[in-house]
Amino acid sequence: MKSRVYLKRISDWTSVDEIKKGLLSLWQHMDTGDTFINKGDFAALKLTFGEEGSSGYIKAGWLSDLIESLRQKTENLFVIETNTLYREKRSNAVGHLKVAHLHGYDIQTLGIPIIIADGLKGRSSQNVSIRGDHLDSVKLAKAVSESDAIISLSHVTGHCQTGLAGTLKNLGMGCAARSGKLVQHSKTLPEITLEKCIGCGSCMEVCPVNAIGLKRKKAILVKERCIGCGECTVSCQSGAIEIKYDESIVKLQEKMVEYALGVKNIFKSKMACINFLYNITKNCDCMSKNEASLVPDIGIIGGMDPVALDKASLDLVGLDTFKKIFPEVDPLIQIRHAEKVKLGSSEYEVIEI
Ligand code: SF4
Ligand code: SF4
Repeated sequence: MKSRVYLKRISDWTSVDEIKKGLLSLWQHMDTGDTFINKGDFAALKLTFGEEGSSGYIKAGWLSDLIESLRQKTENLFVIETNTLYREKRSNAVGHLKVAHLHGYDIQTLGIPIIIADGLKGRSSQNVSIRGDHLDSVKLAKAVSESDAIISLSHVTGHCQTGLAGTLKNLGMGCAARSGKLVQHSKTLPEITLEKCIGCGSCMEVCPVNAIGLKRKKAILVKERCIGCGECTVSCQSGAIEIKYDESIVKLQEKMVEYALGVKNIFKSKMACINFLYNITKNCDCMSKNEASLVPDIGIIGGMDPVALDKASLDLVGLDTFKKIFPEVDPLIQIRHAEKVKLGSSEYEVIEI
């Protein structure tokens, strides 16, 4: 049986009213079932606030009708997000909430709180068992694993490493704790650029396994001890430590999908997905810049199958659009692997509402 993908076209993206009503209408058509959110459930809206300087992210004002509707089901509704692996403002909860506020996301605007799911510095995680080709467990953000239901809200864009940034990325990368993001991104150790190191010792202090020392006022890495957690990259204010992202692009996409499978294993039928097909840019909202749209805006699509939703997004935008911008990255790799690990189906029917 084909998975259902519901499509609500939006004619005017400057009209907040049309978007929020369209989103609510889409939600009401989706096959969530009566028990998707029960009274008292901790229900998470998973999205990204965008990096400071970007504007393509999903706007807080678009969500008000949906939030109002969901709040009637549970008082424990919240927005959830995880810290970034790379060193920008959103790599810890304090900076992250500041950027969120700057982009209109706070309890005053939303009426519901924001939880940074992997804690102050991205260390709060929970292992979840899966059956993948690469992994038999994933390190998800603790507050994600403790939630009862999740609604993934993704802004669809291209991506230099995964070809497509949609639901699978929002769930797989976006619900992982920092250690889980590192597992997906790289199997290599951090590299220290001695010219940039000022010998402050911050990296030594945060390293959980004492894998960094100081020699002649420069940091040195004890490779045998390093577990690749990425903490040192965030603590270094001089930009002297970087993880080399040399994992093959195929493996990165496949591991990301297996992380999304971990999320699905937690929530099962209490996981729904919505993709915003507007301002579809070359790069994702983690870039601190604005980019021009590659294609005309389309609308909002939703469903219960994350694989069908991302495949439908690729088809609606046009696979060639994504392949043209990053010819070396095939976004279908994530779709094929997601089907292989039984995360969902790429066979779908579109129901326009
Ligand atoms: S990646 Fe983690 S374990 Fe390795 S040196 Fe950095 S802080 Fe230590
Ligand atoms: S935190 Fe950065 S600058 Fe400070 S000692 Fe470590 S590598 Fe050098």
